[in-house]
Amino acid sequence: MNDTAVLKFGGTSVKSIARIQHVCRIVESLSQSRPVVVVVSAMGDTTDYLLKLARQVSSSPDKRELDLLLSTGEQISIALTAMTLRQMGVRALSFTGGQVGIFTENVHNKARIVDINGDVIERALADGRVVVVAGFQGVNEKGDITTLGRGGSDTTAVALAVSLGAGVCDIYTDVDGIYTADPNVISGARLLSRISYGEVLEMARLGAQVIHPRAVELARRYGIKLRVRNTFHPEMEGTTIDQGENMEIFRTVSGVAIDKDQACVAIMDVPDQPGIAARITQALCEENIVIDMIMQSFHPTIGLNNITFTVNDSDLDQTINSLSALKDELRAREVLADPDIAKVSLIGAGLVGQPTIPAKLFGVLGANGINIKMISSSEMKITCVVARQQADRAAALIHQAFELDAVCDTRA
Ligand code: ADP
Ligand code: ASP
Ligand code: MG
Repeated sequence: MNDTAVLKFGGTSVKSIARIQHVCRIVESLSQSRPVVVVVSAMGDTTDYLLKLARQVSSSPDKRELDLLLSTGEQISIALTAMTLRQMGVRALSFTGGQVGIFTENVHNKARIVDINGDVIERALADGRVVVVAGFQGVNEKGDITTLGRGGSDTTAVALAVSLGAGVCDIYTDVDGIYTADPNVISGARLLSRISYGEVLEMARLGAQVIHPRAVELARRYGIKLRVRNTFHPEMEGTTIDQGENMEIFRTVSGVAIDKDQACVAIMDVPDQPGIAARITQALCEENIVIDMIMQSFHPTIGLNNITFTVNDSDLDQTINSLSALKDELRAREVLADPDIAKVSLIGAGLVGQPTIPAKLFGVLGANGINIKMISSSEMKITCVVARQQADRAAALIHQAFELDAVCDTRA
């Protein structure tokens, strides 16, 4: 491990020139004592804007071309950040993902990093430069630009920390750290000073967009300590994410997450025979569509099954297209979709084997007239699918029922 500082600034932190100048002051002050690598996202809502442009051209834009377009958002940010730093007298150099050897698999829109050739950054650091890298992008073996999936700049930062041998990666954002729930939705959400990789990974996978789940996975695999901090209050310590030794003994539940970017799909009346579920998942796998909460309900008298699952709503059209193409082959009656759902999840390292927890969770939703459409649970989470317009209220009720505003917290 070395003392290279790897800092990532999200879209809200670089939304305007004034904010870029603020970010650069943080970088400039740190660069006086340590080598610094800065990863930046696209400015504000630039990625959403670029996606909207692409959709005006095509309802399902070519994935290679889309990556080329989306990657330009981060390119604007790195150039402006490096220019601002130079204006302040800091010897900065900016690079795209491809320029610093971030190699990804040959998949577009959600590519995973396979390797980083750290030579370019190491040479620049050795030359006393502050290195500014575009988040969210890489290059595949054909030399085509790829992107890592929405929110992927966090993953770029952690991957660079791994490749450079830095022990810590700071994720600067627009809130003070990781809270027990989205502080912009749940007023009583409590800031956590420390949380384990496992807990935050569940939160991130279940919709807490404060950090990209793959960034947490990578940090856990390579033992990189993450700190989530507020760009606008850099004096605060934020939240530390690490192994969380000894944490389970004092905190059973750690948070509530809401994911509104979800949709539910059902394939009705498929024959109850081997190979059906495999055929469905293969078809979706070919399109790189991630499915979750897969449920099969069996009607013993008629020998037919319904298979239901959730997908990210950006994959809904493609999912319906793929399954509709399979409908006759599967001898299914119909493919149904519900685009207005959300997942609300309770997360905690101590959920396993505690029967009172699901009873309390389902009880509070039932007592308040919130219908649960699907349920799934595992060691560290219980997820309920509810109507999207009820999701915030459901999360607030759960947060209150489990007294998360007073959850045990320590920096031990
Ligand atoms: P950035 O642009 O810095 O990447 P994001 O918008 O991706 O920022 O993530 C920060 C946002 O995540 C916060 O503004 C907050 O609304 C949301 N969020 C959701 N769940 C949580 C949570 N448990 N703790 C903190 N923030 C959360
Ligand atoms: N700009 C990309 C997005 O909006 C990546 C990121 O911000 O992390 O998803
Ligand atoms: Mg983000």
